[in-house]
Amino acid sequence: MSEKFDVVVIGAGLGGLATAGYLAKQGRSVLVLEHHTIPGGYAHEFKRRGYRFEVALHALDGAGPGGWAYQQSADLEVFDQVEFRRMDPFYTVEFPDHKVVAHADLVAYEAELISHFPNEVDGIRSLIDAMVKTFFDVRRFVYDGENTRRPGFSGIPNSYPHMIAAMGQSWEEFMSAHIESEELASVFSTLWAYYGLPPSQLNAATFILPWVSYHLYGAYYPEGGSMAMSRAIETTIMKYGGELRYRQDVDGIEVVDGKAVAVTTTKGLRVEADLIISNANPNDTMLRFIGPDHLPDGYVGSVKEATDRPALGSLVVYLGLEKDLIAEGWPYHELFLATTYDLEDDYAAMREGRWEDVGLVISHYDHVDPTCSPEGSSVMSITTLASWDYADQWGTHGGLDDYSNNERYLEIKDAAGQTLVNRVAELIPGLKESIVHIEIGTPITNWRYSLNPSGSIYGSEQTVENMYMNRLSERTPITNVFLTGAWVFGGGMSAAMMSGRSVARRADNYFAGESAESLFTPDLEPDTGDEPVILEDERRLSTPAATTAPTPRSSHTLTAAVSGREIDFASPGLPTVLVFHDQDSVKAGAAAVIAVRSEHEDAASVTVANVVDLQSVPKLFRKFAETSMRKSYARAEEGLSEGKRAEDYVVILPDWDGSATQGFGFSDMGEDIGVVVLDTDGEIAGFHRGENATDEALEDLRRVAD
Ligand SMILES: Cc1cc2nc3c(=O)[nH]c(=O)nc-3n(C[C@H](O)[C@H](O)[C@H](O)COP(=O)(O)OP(=O)(O)OC[C@H]3O[C@@H](n4cnc5c(N)ncnc54)[C@H](O)[C@@H]3O)c2cc1C
Repeated sequence: MSEKFDVVVIGAGLGGLATAGYLAKQGRSVLVLEHHTIPGGYAHEFKRRGYRFEVALHALDGAGPGGWAYQQSADLEVFDQVEFRRMDPFYTVEFPDHKVVAHADLVAYEAELISHFPNEVDGIRSLIDAMVKTFFDVRRFVYDGENTRRPGFSGIPNSYPHMIAAMGQSWEEFMSAHIESEELASVFSTLWAYYGLPPSQLNAATFILPWVSYHLYGAYYPEGGSMAMSRAIETTIMKYGGELRYRQDVDGIEVVDGKAVAVTTTKGLRVEADLIISNANPNDTMLRFIGPDHLPDGYVGSVKEATDRPALGSLVVYLGLEKDLIAEGWPYHELFLATTYDLEDDYAAMREGRWEDVGLVISHYDHVDPTCSPEGSSVMSITTLASWDYADQWGTHGGLDDYSNNERYLEIKDAAGQTLVNRVAELIPGLKESIVHIEIGTPITNWRYSLNPSGSIYGSEQTVENMYMNRLSERTPITNVFLTGAWVFGGGMSAAMMSGRSVARRADNYFAGESAESLFTPDLEPDTGDEPVILEDERRLSTPAATTAPTPRSSHTLTAAVSGREIDFASPGLPTVLVFHDQDSVKAGAAAVIAVRSEHEDAASVTVANVVDLQSVPKLFRKFAETSMRKSYARAEEGLSEGKRAEDYVVILPDWDGSATQGFGFSDMGEDIGVVVLDTDGEIAGFHRGENATDEALEDLRRVAD
């Protein structure tokens, strides 16, 4: 006989714990099943020889009212159980020619930056102002969502313009609108490694939101470390009747008639539930526990894509020191060391394992958590980002069974760790002699404890194209399975708890038979019913297309949506009609395709393709555009008579950068379409625009096809 709960939560990382805490408080019966022996996922500690080592947390962003970490910590009764200490200064950073203190007071920090870069005073101020506006847009978005004041999707860009603009560009693009000095940009971006990507790739909002939260509402550290937070939420779950079971590896989610009914573990436990929420990584949850057979192909592809693009893992050296660093005058909790202003190179050094060069952060925990080491001693960690693939998976060659006894792994790990220790020893005399305990964590260590693919610490990469509405959603195609944590929300401890808050709200609505939007991100889901009209609203945020003269012959190859079929314009093989349109002229484009097909029914004799100019679609909305194309494909496929293959008859070619469209001079067409006829060798047989374009193209085609 199986047990039965309202909700089973898989994984007790902060995302899973927070979700469970909220739902237990709502009166649901909740069971949390966790692989490890303790709660927290990355938010935990280990103890050795009287030292307590924080595994991950450096600083929690915004534990004061208004800050990112505040609401969840208050709701989950963490503040009732844990003391938080505000860090002042937040951190110090040393670049080759600058040593900059990030004071807790934002205006004092701004003044510090201005003192180093006096020529950029206006830029520094306008950058900070723009970041604060972005942060407030998002906070208003959250409040409006909670109070049902949020406009429908198409109203979002107008209501929260700073949010939408930041979510659709890189942090480098955002900064470059305000400041010029590359050195300043690097100094300002010191926290980039907290998000795993250099400014050129990192989503601007992903940098800005916690940055403002840290700088306006404080960088905090909990007494007892992140473990204390995890234990506090565990206590809250139990206080409201929830249950947690450790050493339980979930290995299956049973699905009957499209609904999840039960969770199974490797120990033979089977628990039935009305709702299943997973903090385990999406690859395991959706593809291993549930299985691709229960999921649409497109979704399976999205999960694989997220897994194939993990954020970096970490290399951390944990040091127990028989040395009182505070008494010796070491003033820092957090000291960042950057060997170069070239953050691209810094990122490359991390990926390649150039440990002598990588940027790193030295954290001395006794400053913020005085009980973490015995009297007269200190706990320090040295952290940098690191790739799973370094040295062929850290010398294991992918053999992860018993990896911790693999001598090659131990050699490579020790060499990497020692390089970091040697660098820090140059700053702290007698450091090496005072080490009483050293432990080194690699991306493989991360994987072992969290089961996160590639030992990623922030889920999948936090690029412009892979955040917010483009990231995997908390919702899944199985309506009573939700995901929570870094893979769906983005990395960070407060983010994981925010994800829990958002998912718990969705869960509450699920039980009420209603659907709930994400609290923190506009939802762009295949099933929201939103149509591409949204893309038109967004056009004003993008750069208008440049119009160039038509080329006599195009050399473009475009890949068809869904089918993946490639059409080489220079050598199409068959007479081909290309119907160029954009979001304004979808209907006219469809009519042209139908008109051509009604005269040339056989796809074996003529190829007909829609070329969709998507260059005005901000990166943030690309996934939505893909979804729209998938829908169009599915609709067209349904209308095909038996025996006709969709890949032959439904050829939608997204022209993401608009270069193919511009190559034919078809930019800014409004509701117009352009029609081009190519012969089998790619020679242009006709080239038309305007009302009669399709009829004229049909004339050309008659000539070519004959
Ligand atoms: C070295 C390091 C430094 C960091 N520094 C900071 C920082 O200073 N500030 C900050 O905000 N963030 C920091 N982070 C990032 C932050 O810790 C994570 O982004 C966040 O904690 C992830 O939370 P999560 O909810 O996604 O779950 P995770 O922490 O990934 O936990 C997932 C949980 O699910 C469990 N699980 C997985 N599969 C199964 C299964 N099959 N059955 C049962 N249980 C399962 C795992 O055991 C784990 O407990 C750091 C991370 C690391 C590693």
